[in-house]
Amino acid sequence: MSTATPQKFEFQAEIKQLLDIVIHSLYTEKEIFVRELVSNASDAIEKFRHLQLTEKDVADDQLALEINLTTDDTAKTLTLQDAGLGMTRAELIENLGTIAHSGSKAFLKALSEGGQKNSNLIGQFGVGFYSAFMVAKTVKVYSRSWKKDEPAHVWTSDGSGSYEIEEVDDQQRGTKIVIELKDDCGEFATEGRIKEILERYSAFVSFPVNLGGKLINTVQALWLRSKSEITDEQYTEFYKFQAHAYDEPRLRLHFSADAPLQINALLFVPKDNTEKFGMARLEPSVSLFCRKVLIDSKPKDLLPEWLRFLKGVVDSEDLPLNISRETMQDRALVEKLNKVITKRFIKFLSEEAKNRTEAYNEFYAEFGVFLKEGAALDYAHKDEIVKLLRFESSLTEKGKTTSLAEYVTRMGAEQKEIYFLMGPNRAAIESGPYLEGFKARNLEVLFCYEAVDEYVMSNVREFDGKKLVAADHADVKLADAPKPPAAEGDLSEDDAKALAEWLKTTLGDRVGEVKASDRLVDSPALAVNADKFMSPQMRRMMKAMNKDGADAPVKVNLEINPRSAVIKHLAAARTAAPEKAALIAEQILDNSLISAGLFEDPSKMVARLYKLLETV
Ligand code: ADP
Ligand code: MG
Repeated sequence: MSTATPQKFEFQAEIKQLLDIVIHSLYTEKEIFVRELVSNASDAIEKFRHLQLTEKDVADDQLALEINLTTDDTAKTLTLQDAGLGMTRAELIENLGTIAHSGSKAFLKALSEGGQKNSNLIGQFGVGFYSAFMVAKTVKVYSRSWKKDEPAHVWTSDGSGSYEIEEVDDQQRGTKIVIELKDDCGEFATEGRIKEILERYSAFVSFPVNLGGKLINTVQALWLRSKSEITDEQYTEFYKFQAHAYDEPRLRLHFSADAPLQINALLFVPKDNTEKFGMARLEPSVSLFCRKVLIDSKPKDLLPEWLRFLKGVVDSEDLPLNISRETMQDRALVEKLNKVITKRFIKFLSEEAKNRTEAYNEFYAEFGVFLKEGAALDYAHKDEIVKLLRFESSLTEKGKTTSLAEYVTRMGAEQKEIYFLMGPNRAAIESGPYLEGFKARNLEVLFCYEAVDEYVMSNVREFDGKKLVAADHADVKLADAPKPPAAEGDLSEDDAKALAEWLKTTLGDRVGEVKASDRLVDSPALAVNADKFMSPQMRRMMKAMNKDGADAPVKVNLEINPRSAVIKHLAAARTAAPEKAALIAEQILDNSLISAGLFEDPSKMVARLYKLLETV
């Protein structure tokens, strides 16, 4: 039933509503209409190919299965032609005049459920064919069906409520869409602009996409192919293309899943952590695709924050289907994707740590800081992430690390806690006074060199039921170590007590408690933080940020070593040379503060040292 003269039709009410939103939306990235039309073209070719498996008698069976775009800068038009299955007259009416199809229906549903005109939704999930009306004065759709005896038609509309259909000659199988652009959308009639858009959104479309006769999509959607067919070089080339990177990826994870969601993912860890060089905070850059078509290149919630160093692609066929059944507002689907991918990536890292330990340790040296962030902040995955953390310790060699699990296997039966010490580096911790007592008792202490470690340790709190405890904390109680044989001149318990009391009086407000210590072996004294709520590291941070509280004078508890020559000397000087003894006492305290990282004002110390030197 063909018609020679154009026939006019009204759009279905929902389409009118949709067109109204699309045409009047302030959505700024109008360019996504290209993505929508190209993906429709690709779908149409895919359907045709499928059809060819059963139908032998099709129109124009020699046509190359391609998508061709041309721009006309003078006429201000953009044309897309595909060799897909095409549409009959009835299909033009059904497909373009009513809202039977997925994308736009989901969009309207989300709008009604979201309750506001969220123009962002247009970009996220597209409004399919109708997005062309964001940029078009008129849209003409020429189409010939694959069915041989069906005539071709042109469908024409300005999006204002009605469309016309007319029969045409000279049309090859498939669909040709001619867009006459609005005056302020002339950019889409220039080849450079369209090329840029195609490269962004349609780089992985399965069929050749040509612009002005030149092939645009030269890179394959590797993530959908099977691992065994892909070489390392291909992976690297893909990484460079997709992440706009120049380095070689350090690690990669290529996996697919069918339950609970259909996912194909190809993830890369870059060579370097650029945040480490003080460069800008990384943005999420694992792109979200639905069947090779880009949905969002920087989806915010696809992965947790701490995985922001990952590059690559996640493709899920479930996306548009589920999206139409759920509200997009609560992003339940993206959340589900997030869970599955995060779990899988953590599992991958733990396998790497086990099977390719050296590579893992190199990765950790570069990106460990992100794992620490995850351990501290990602409550859902904390327990698994903590297992991936690595530390140097008093029992490892310099540069070698241990996991918490390995630490636990080395714990003696009586050890109940996991100890750690903060310090700028290994040498500083090893030469400080805090480690001695642990060493003497064969207790392993983890070494933490990074500013975030303290925050991480206090958030992680425990591992395998064992508390993580700062070894320089005032509350740490160590079991009795085998005492060194009493030497000549060791202070008796009473003498030590008397000296401690004298020190408390002499040092006044600068100290809280003074007592003889059970954790010192060689050093004369050590300072432990009297302020439970502010560690030295925190104090430094607050000072740097000019926060209240950091200006209060440092107050510490002092522990002295009755076996140390310096302390013995002090005990003697106390009565023999009281003035000198007071100077020594102050100096011992300052030295302990230096070891604790709490020493702040050297001016007094210099004057005092000269005074002391005078007495030599
Ligand atoms: P969706 O692609 O989500 O189905 P669209 O609004 O993009 O929604 O397209 C509506 C319908 O129009 C498609 O489902 C398809 O049947 C038909 N269609 C659109 N473009 C083409 C094309 N190039 N060739 C054949 N059919 C098409
Ligand atoms: Mg579509």
